[in-house]
Amino acid sequence: FADRDGVIWFDGALVPWRDARVHVLTHTLHYGMGVFEGVRAYGTESGASIFRLQDHTRRLFRSAKIMNMPMPYSAETLNAAQRLVVRENDLQQAYLRPMVFYGCEGMGLRAEGLSTHVIVASWEWPSYMSPEALEQGIKVNTSSYTRHHVNISMCKAKANGNYINSMLALQEAVRNGCEEALLLDPEGYVAEGSGENVFIVRDGILYTPELTSCLDGITRATVIELARECGYRVVEKRITRDEAYIADEAFFTGTAAEVLPISTLDGRTIGRGRRGPITGRLQGLYFEVVHGRSAAHRSWLSDVTDT
Ligand code: PMP
Repeated sequence: FADRDGVIWFDGALVPWRDARVHVLTHTLHYGMGVFEGVRAYGTESGASIFRLQDHTRRLFRSAKIMNMPMPYSAETLNAAQRLVVRENDLQQAYLRPMVFYGCEGMGLRAEGLSTHVIVASWEWPSYMSPEALEQGIKVNTSSYTRHHVNISMCKAKANGNYINSMLALQEAVRNGCEEALLLDPEGYVAEGSGENVFIVRDGILYTPELTSCLDGITRATVIELARECGYRVVEKRITRDEAYIADEAFFTGTAAEVLPISTLDGRTIGRGRRGPITGRLQGLYFEVVHGRSAAHRSWLSDVTDT
């Protein structure tokens, strides 16, 4: 992945992909104190467009604030950097990875006197999930790993170190023959997937966990808005795993996962065991919006040719 053509935005300049390197004593590499985003550009009629760019950048700044990391660049600079890397790498559909990390001036946990660096990488990324998964849904297990407690990790921050927990959960799920994990919060209520928010549908009403121990997902917010525009009721509340077992439909949302049906949870078939009608409708709307095929929500798209 490191040895390839292309450019990465690194501290204000575009550098060749192969040369975008850091020292082994980079502080963030040791303790995981860093913040990042996962952003996506989709092909639209007028070329590649970044979906909800400003919202992702806003969350990056919030994550940095929570972690008390100084941000050396403005939001405008980072928005422009994201458009630039998609353009310069000539990408049509892309994943973008902005990340803020500490330099290698010292190893102390006080994290004093450290420089803060920012990269924005981007690569071609047509889809994370197969078309079959988007239609048939995926198998999920409730994780034996608990999601972060709000006073152990900072759940509102998309912080590098938080993802150790996600990786343990996802690897366990895959070992169990599943595609994704459902993590419960420390009190035992449904929190989210390893890198997705979760919704269940019962009697035509959508339910999703409150933003306590799950990430404030941008796809979650998008889907809530689209669902309400369709006239569906969306309720944010505590959800138990057995409520999920008996849901009519369940799905994950995320920049990578998009709107992804859950077919089974812990071996129990959810609804009909494939994408349900409300999930299908919202998934269809989501794809229309991200590809700029809908007249609504054009303001969510940022044309990468804008300089
Ligand atoms: N939860 C976690 C833990 C995540 O990593 C992600 C992906 N960023 C999400 C939820 C979904 O967030 P978004 O829709 O903003 O991608």
